[in-house]
Amino acid sequence: LLGADGSISASIFAEMSALAARTGAINLGQGFPDEDGPAAVLDAARQAISDGVNQYPPGRGNPQLLEAIARHQQRFYGLTVDPGTEILVTAGATEALSATLLALLEPGDEVVTFEPFYDAYGGLVALAGGVHRTVRLRSPDFQPDLDELAAVVNDRTRIILINNPHNPTGTVFARETLELIVTLAHKHDALIVTDEVYEHLTFGVAHLPVATLAGARERTVTISSAGKTFSTTGWKIGWLSGPAAIVTAILAVKQFLTYVNGAPFQPATVVGLGLPDSYYAGIASDLQAKRDVLAGGLAAAGFTLTVPQGSYFIVADAAALGHADGVEFCRALPDLAGVVGIPITAFCLPEHKAEYASLVRFAFCKRVDVLEEAAARLARL
Ligand code: PMP
Ligand code: GLN
Repeated sequence: LLGADGSISASIFAEMSALAARTGAINLGQGFPDEDGPAAVLDAARQAISDGVNQYPPGRGNPQLLEAIARHQQRFYGLTVDPGTEILVTAGATEALSATLLALLEPGDEVVTFEPFYDAYGGLVALAGGVHRTVRLRSPDFQPDLDELAAVVNDRTRIILINNPHNPTGTVFARETLELIVTLAHKHDALIVTDEVYEHLTFGVAHLPVATLAGARERTVTISSAGKTFSTTGWKIGWLSGPAAIVTAILAVKQFLTYVNGAPFQPATVVGLGLPDSYYAGIASDLQAKRDVLAGGLAAAGFTLTVPQGSYFIVADAAALGHADGVEFCRALPDLAGVVGIPITAFCLPEHKAEYASLVRFAFCKRVDVLEEAAARLARL
């Protein structure tokens, strides 16, 4: 396993989930929901298996799913995408990211991410032989400094890799940030890869896909995943959309990574993508209520925190409780309070870990009673 900095280490998510299992602590570490998603979607998967949808689907994906993704992009964002040439179904957003980086990077090309960054980015940039540059997101608002962004992107930048809404900080990028990214991509002839797996999980703010901005589409690959939208993280159905030539290049890599995946889960995802607007509004408002329970609990326990506008996660600062080292704190937290979180340093380059040392990520994609119990336990700190 490659760590965030490309070095060999165990995934922080695996380590912390194992710690939760071993200690019986409430797992607010790894971001996965503890409740099933819509019954219609689950039923459709069972039905597909019964109907014999159990062999390899086409390389680009089940045609109905490609159509459903195209309809989704039109319905929510007014984007017209050709299902035959501009979409690819992948084994989760993770394979969309890995195939994209492997297809588009030459050794030595620079990739710009926003730090702290989703841990796989560091490993994948290293696997693809890229050079990882970051723009820092700093508390309390975790919005990038636009001058810093403009200074990091340069003529060696091949990809600006955005994650919006952002894991681990829950930040939703401002329109002007996204516009600057498009401007910089043009200026330096870079591509934009945007991981929008939390596109439907924003709280009181509309999701703005970078591909909808003027001048963005022809150089943008947009990635999403059924895992977050339908609470099916274990199904690993993801997808990407982008210009046909780029999608073909990514397909050329993808065919040797997994070739295809998840045959019966693909038609089930079609059912999910066809759910009414009320479903999509409901998942965001349910999750917002959960965010508020956990944010209230963390604040009452004495953490300082920023209330996130999207994603599954809250970043809390343990320094106010006298814990300066988040790694030590997270290892001790099952004993101290029966809760598991993830130190933010797991999402940082080695040279920047010190700056984020006391920050901890807690996931709130859990049942309200679980979050209330976690809040009660954290109050013991
Ligand atoms: N990108 C981000 C930002 C994520 O948080 C995750 C997983 N939670 C993924 C990608 C991976 O998605 P998938 O499980 O669909 O591979
Ligand atoms: N994306 C999830 C998280 O951030 C977990 C992904 C994983 O376990 N690799 O918690």
